Amino acid sequence: MLIFNNFKKVIMNQLVKVFSDIYKPTFNENNDEYIDTSPYKPYERNCIRYECRCKAGSYFIGNTMFKQHIKSKTHKDFIANYSKYYKEVDESKEIINNLKVENELLTRKNNKLKNQNSNLLKIIEELNDEDDDEEFKDCHSE
Ligand SMILES: [Zn+2]
Repeated sequence: MLIFNNFKKVIMNQLVKVFSDIYKPTFNENNDEYIDTSPYKPYERNCIRYECRCKAGSYFIGNTMFKQHIKSKTHKDFIANYSKYYKEVDESKEIINNLKVENELLTRKNNKLKNQNSNLLKIIEELNDEDDDEEFKDCHSE
């Protein structure tokens, strides 16, 4: 039963992940500040749920809730201090994703080279065998 419950928990977590995301403010390069930008399109239907890191358990779904949410003092303080707490975390995530892609490409390249290498070793072995045969023939003809 415990295993089943854990399994259920994993599935639930995955489902929640599909329909929810973590809200990230936009970085304004002109004044080096983070600003609130709605993650939804103006008349978006089936809006996904965004969790906000400004307060444990806080979230919004859709533009109306988003606009309401960003008015709170907790949220405003959070945005004002965003770079202090989360800039590095977000940047790290991006770096990790890029490295994962790079790693995948290099793994593929490595596998390809391994195959080439083993093919070349086979050819060398065959050539060596042929040499051996010839030496043997020479011996016999003498
Ligand atoms: Zn918030």
